[in-house]
Amino acid sequence: MAFLEVKKLNKYFPIGEDKRFHALKNIDLSFEKGELVSIIGESGSGKSTLMNILGGLDSSFTGDVFVDEENIGQYEEKQMVQYHKEKIGFVFQSFNLVSHLSILDNVTLAMTLSNVDKETRIERSIAILDQLGLQEQHKKKPNQLSGGQKQRVAIARALVNDPAIIIADEPTGALDSETSEQVLDIIQQIAESGKLVILVTHSERVAERSSRIVTIADGEIINDKKMGSLDKVDNTFILRPLDKKQTNKNLSIFSAIRMALLNMKEKLGRNVLIALGGSIGIMSIVLMLSLGQGVNDYLTETMNENVNPLIIETKMTEDTKTKDARKERVDKEEEGKNAAVSNGPSLPINIGGNGEAKGGFEGPPGTQNELAFDKNNIEELQNIEYVKTIIEGFTSFSFSKNAVEYEDENYTYMNFGTVSPDMTPSNIIFGELPEINEVMITEGLATSIADEADKMIGKEINVKTEMGEEILEGTYTISGIYTPGDAVGPAGIFESVFMTMETFKALNEEAGKKTESNVVYITSEAEGFTKDIKEEVKELGYAGSSSDILTEIFSQLLAIFTYILTGVAGISLLVSAIMILTVLYISVIERTQEIGVMKAIGGRKKDIRRIFVSESFLIGFFSGILGVGIAYGLSFIGNLFIESIFDATVFNMTPMFALAGVFVSIIISVLAGLLPANKAAKLDPVEALRRD
Ligand code: ADP
Ligand code: MG
Repeated sequence: MAFLEVKKLNKYFPIGEDKRFHALKNIDLSFEKGELVSIIGESGSGKSTLMNILGGLDSSFTGDVFVDEENIGQYEEKQMVQYHKEKIGFVFQSFNLVSHLSILDNVTLAMTLSNVDKETRIERSIAILDQLGLQEQHKKKPNQLSGGQKQRVAIARALVNDPAIIIADEPTGALDSETSEQVLDIIQQIAESGKLVILVTHSERVAERSSRIVTIADGEIINDKKMGSLDKVDNTFILRPLDKKQTNKNLSIFSAIRMALLNMKEKLGRNVLIALGGSIGIMSIVLMLSLGQGVNDYLTETMNENVNPLIIETKMTEDTKTKDARKERVDKEEEGKNAAVSNGPSLPINIGGNGEAKGGFEGPPGTQNELAFDKNNIEELQNIEYVKTIIEGFTSFSFSKNAVEYEDENYTYMNFGTVSPDMTPSNIIFGELPEINEVMITEGLATSIADEADKMIGKEINVKTEMGEEILEGTYTISGIYTPGDAVGPAGIFESVFMTMETFKALNEEAGKKTESNVVYITSEAEGFTKDIKEEVKELGYAGSSSDILTEIFSQLLAIFTYILTGVAGISLLVSAIMILTVLYISVIERTQEIGVMKAIGGRKKDIRRIFVSESFLIGFFSGILGVGIAYGLSFIGNLFIESIFDATVFNMTPMFALAGVFVSIIISVLAGLLPANKAAKLDPVEALRRD
């Protein structure tokens, strides 16, 4: 069997629904290595169609094509890719060089697709380019070369993998006669070096130089003429065979990224614009998240600044209270059976009131009066590890019935409470903490009575406080004036009266009431334990301090706002995804020819997809970096600006946000790139390379 055998080859092109065009009719041909065969025939006679079939670009035919005794018509994709890499080298009339790759990169491309090591790649390519007289041109781009030089580069590319067959479809069609001769000299040398060269030409003069002329007309071989041996030309070709093991591998991710980068560099302006467009969405999202974080940090920080780090303020919760009550009942009824499992603590608040709310609005968070601790609760808290002491306290709230009377005038206040260990000398602007039968009042309350707060020190006032259904009343001396500083919570917002627990007990006794505590101050043995104790307290079903509760509510609201704003910003991500999709589609169309070339020299679908996905990856990466960078810049400027007004920073871009920004950008871009990449991978190389 000959090296290349064509048997009963027929090719039909479907036209429309039910018609087909018979382009090749019962072709029988056989070729041997070392032949230089010219295929001549008029335009439209079927020459290119035949070449595409021999070169494995078109597999839809009937009949057989054997190369080296293998039927290429039965090849799977993988075998066909290997056939392109090892057996076939293409030279086209229109050169089909990849315009954004250097001459050297154009030649190495076939080996890059096989992941041949870089050294071998460059060494072989340079050797061939040198032999073809292109020593000085390695770094140039194709459009910097003349037609003859371009065709020599294309020949170098066809030869670099040392294929057995070179298919040259009108290689001199676009060249003047002088350069045509040079190219033909080279082609003849290739045949003399032992390869089968099939040369398609219009020109009788070109055909004259070959060892055999096959004439085709209307898809039929009408003449097959041997011309005798080739004229001798100096044989200067030395091609070391490429180790076949090396062509077995595939395009590496690294090379795919490099190729994507080279292409992006070629269209730098466009890609900078895309990255800018894509960065806007990422920027807004990162900025929103940073703002949320910054405000939250500011809040927490301000809270903690005014809180003694050793003290944990704790309140009773509705859930724990009812659970305890139920538990007691169950315990009494039937021992051994477990009580209902807690759903975890809930906050002792009722905004807008739920079913259990007694009489509508119950006051701001942390101002309920009725949730008292009992002995068991106190014991439970006392038993937490690292708890040093437990101080019980009381705090209550009334909208209209709490008042102090001074010189026959009534002044309302809202918050009534016992002195907490949280109160530091810095909170007391005048006087001191109250002792028995003394009270401390807030600065605002004091100034509503007298024009200057310190004038009230030592004065006697009558304090009225709402306690359940009753109003308790007592006369006390003012020992000090309290200022909340930056503290948040009832005492930070509302006018208040404070007394010691002892005084409070006496007040209750006078009215015949039992003293209950509804707030507990836990002292930690050391600062390091505070956090753990706090957590344990929560786990047991108790709530944090009023300020903790407020902070938590603020944080929750803030989180909701942040998510909404981030979601809105996220819409711009959708816009950039569509933009990237469009741009990559355009890129696929622009690069049709390049994709065709890659397929012809052994690029798999997967490799082509990989190159395009790499490109969208890079777009996403750069957009992400840009977006995060701009967000960083803006939050820096924003912080400077706000700091100059409020003495606070409100943007806090954590490394997490920055990373997430880049990551999301990459994901979105790659997803948007999948469709175009798929389109590129599926491109038909015959269509892609057709030049009419
Ligand atoms: P040439 O000898 O000029 O290279 P071709 O092999 O390109 O000719 O084309 C041979 C014939 O097949 C022409 O008549 C052409 O119109 C037809 N043909 C080529 N490709 C297609 C196609 N994809 N669909 C329909 N007809 C085609
Ligand atoms: Mg043609």
